[in-house]
Amino acid sequence: ITIFVPRDSTALALGANETAAAIAKEAKARGIDIKLVRNGSRGMFWLEPLVEVATDAGRIAFGPIEEHEVAGLFDAGFTAGGKHPKALGLTEEIPYLKKQERLQFVRVGITDPVSLDDYLAHEGYVGLKKAIAMEPAAIVQEVTDSGLRGRGGAAFPTGIKWKTVLGAEADQKYIACNADEGDSGTFSDRMVMEDDPFMLIEGMTIAGLAVKATEGYIYVRSEYPHSIANLNEAIDAANKAGYLGENILGSGRTFNLQVRKAAGAYVCGEETAMLESIEGKRGLVRAKPPLPALQGLFGKPTVINNVISLSAVPLILSRGATFYKDFGMGRSRGTLPMQLAGNLKYGGLVEKAFGVTLRELLYDFGGGSESGRPIRAVQVGGPLGAYMPESLFDTPFDYEAFAAVASTVGHGGLVAFDDTVDMAKQARYAMHFCAVESCGKCTPCRIGSTRGVEVMDKIIADQNRPQQIHLLRDLCDVMVTGSLCAMGNMTPFPVLSALNHFPEDFGDQKALAN
Ligand code: SF4
Repeated sequence: ITIFVPRDSTALALGANETAAAIAKEAKARGIDIKLVRNGSRGMFWLEPLVEVATDAGRIAFGPIEEHEVAGLFDAGFTAGGKHPKALGLTEEIPYLKKQERLQFVRVGITDPVSLDDYLAHEGYVGLKKAIAMEPAAIVQEVTDSGLRGRGGAAFPTGIKWKTVLGAEADQKYIACNADEGDSGTFSDRMVMEDDPFMLIEGMTIAGLAVKATEGYIYVRSEYPHSIANLNEAIDAANKAGYLGENILGSGRTFNLQVRKAAGAYVCGEETAMLESIEGKRGLVRAKPPLPALQGLFGKPTVINNVISLSAVPLILSRGATFYKDFGMGRSRGTLPMQLAGNLKYGGLVEKAFGVTLRELLYDFGGGSESGRPIRAVQVGGPLGAYMPESLFDTPFDYEAFAAVASTVGHGGLVAFDDTVDMAKQARYAMHFCAVESCGKCTPCRIGSTRGVEVMDKIIADQNRPQQIHLLRDLCDVMVTGSLCAMGNMTPFPVLSALNHFPEDFGDQKALAN
């Protein structure tokens, strides 16, 4: 009998280790022979720890199961499909999972994350084997044809970036994976690294072959110890089995990979600050040009991609660009793993093709607010994303559709708020976040965010509101146009969206006409 208990950190935080230990102990005491697999999470966090049992019909799920409920599970004969109040039926039939289009997250929650054999048994390394037989330019073309755009937030076409690096002449090139996932309410990078690390490793190896880079770095935020451990374990296994290192699968090609623990600042997720940090310097943003594609890490041509972008690559190679491109809408092709967080009944990971609306995500998947009150605002795309009101909930997830309503898809994180939220305080929070996290290199962001907090305090205290709101708009204008990077450029998104969509929280209506 095979029993699965997740090892993902969300499940661990909810007691998965204790549940797993109790299952092993109980089975032994009852003389039941079991194989306990520590899989990744299915991404349905309200059900964690989710216990699954393999049956001929597929896996059946029980959850959430705490340590003290394990004996009752055995009493109910759960391993033989016995009835239990927490039985959820076949895992794959749970609507939250069934309604998804899991292309990238297809193995997540199914396999043992650090087992190379399990990865290979689930379509692992099919993409790399194809890539090895291709010319670098053909690999780049395949990625370009797939329509993949940067999933870290910038949405820049991945194939075009790779083409620039491939065309650059240099004795050394690098692949740098940005895994400094610091946006509020986001965890898709973490789930890839913890729950399917070989997918990212394979994607980076293919990227290395495509642009002729032989060294790669994964820059992982320091708050992700389980990601770092699983990646290192998987990298070791891939090296030993010949999927990494010198002479990959006998091809004569080399790609070495190492993990770097990030420095703990939000701005280190900005690509050039990340390069500085990997080089061992303070995480300061670099001015562009030169583009990192031409002069990046240690001054050499560098592909910088986010975890989700790179881990989409094995699938694109194994199934082909057309397969991937068939999902999505407009210029937003493929799928996006969206992360549901904040005041929602069912928080978790939902992978869907572009085109799904905010409303579907919030209600069909998220189940509405946890508090049972109306959802008033959703911040999409992290702390620099706009607050979207109910009137925009039918906006489809599409980079251009979001830009048209002054919003951004970002990294696909959603944080929901009910009608008790004070949007003026949220606007202040955005300015304060920028003041704390600014790297200090440019004046509009460094000084502007601090002045912005002061102005917001006056607005909240109702001190000369019309003038202060006017000042706030001017300040936002300077930050958008004058800042060096997205930190300063985008902080006005949440501030202005709060002001424009929720003017009633800023008191003086007449002032808003300015
Ligand atoms: Fe640094 Fe802010 Fe300027 Fe970016 S916008 S370079 S974070 S000071």
